[in-house]
Amino acid sequence: MNWALTIGRIAGTRIRLHITFLLFLAWIGIADYLAGGPAAAIESIVFILLVFLCVTLHEFGHIAMGRRFGVNTPQVILSPIGGIAAMERMPEKPRQELLVAIAGPLVNVAIALVLMAVFGLGLRQIASIDFDNATLAERLLIVNLVLIAFNLVPAFPMDGGRVLRAMLAMNMGAARATVLAARIGQGFAMVFFVLGLLWNPMLMVVGVFIYFAAGAEEQQAAFTGFAARLTVGDAMEPSPVVLQAVQPVSTAIDALLASPQKEFPVLDAASHIVGLLDRDQMILCLRDRDAGVPVGEVMRDCEPLLPGEPLGEAYSRMRGRGANAEVVADGAGRVIGLLTAENVAEMMMVESARPGWRFRRN
Ligand code: ZN
Repeated sequence: MNWALTIGRIAGTRIRLHITFLLFLAWIGIADYLAGGPAAAIESIVFILLVFLCVTLHEFGHIAMGRRFGVNTPQVILSPIGGIAAMERMPEKPRQELLVAIAGPLVNVAIALVLMAVFGLGLRQIASIDFDNATLAERLLIVNLVLIAFNLVPAFPMDGGRVLRAMLAMNMGAARATVLAARIGQGFAMVFFVLGLLWNPMLMVVGVFIYFAAGAEEQQAAFTGFAARLTVGDAMEPSPVVLQAVQPVSTAIDALLASPQKEFPVLDAASHIVGLLDRDQMILCLRDRDAGVPVGEVMRDCEPLLPGEPLGEAYSRMRGRGANAEVVADGAGRVIGLLTAENVAEMMMVESARPGWRFRRN
């Protein structure tokens, strides 16, 4: 995500341009300059910038509605395929999710109505617009109508998919609503794919994209759904084997082979947690150094979790650092468990076989 330039900030949300967006603008500008001279190039660039202004306003529709429900959005990224508002989370109440999802397309409805009023365009004129010879206002109007129609297709990741999920969730549980909405989205994806075969290859690409996005949405929702009910303490493996920082790596290898554990909390002489040693670090040390090297020299830093922390946030933080495991410690700094990606993945399998499974431990 570093290939993006920050161009401004509105109410705490950074607006960033992906580098491919600039390349796309340059490409359009150069192509039209070669085909029609400077006036044509400027006209297309102005048109594209106005289109992306509409896309940005659409995203800020979601962002502003999200903020009403206490959801912050650190950034919105613009790329040639559209805008993505990186909201911290979706509100959990279906009514709020529906309002956040619908707020984006409603912005395009507002823009379309303003264009129709200001430029005196009625529905009959719109139907007869020839896009290639249309005025800038007419073309922008068409773009906004297409954005509305496209976003209301009831398939993730389009806004219509979220609207559908929220409406289903009002009548059934959130988990079942997501599964059903994802299936419907995948049904639409197949329709797009078949239409693409017959008509336009771009639709095939869109179909494949929607199909995988729907699956990913289902998995993500399954994770947040079950993680929301749980704490780190519910998901950790209790009482892991620990190592001392002064012990040699050979002792760590013994511990590795004697149990299914792959990551080991490391303590200093005063029993404070000083790091975490994993299997790869042991093997690298054996290969490149010596089995007598103290564990404290090859371990990595850790940021112990508390058992009462919400699982979803703690897990995202751990994965965000690229770690597969993290130490869980009580208030006094004593090791009481280990949270591992493997254990969370197993919980996900249980959850998908039996949604709503009680993982809570005492
Ligand atoms: Zn949207």
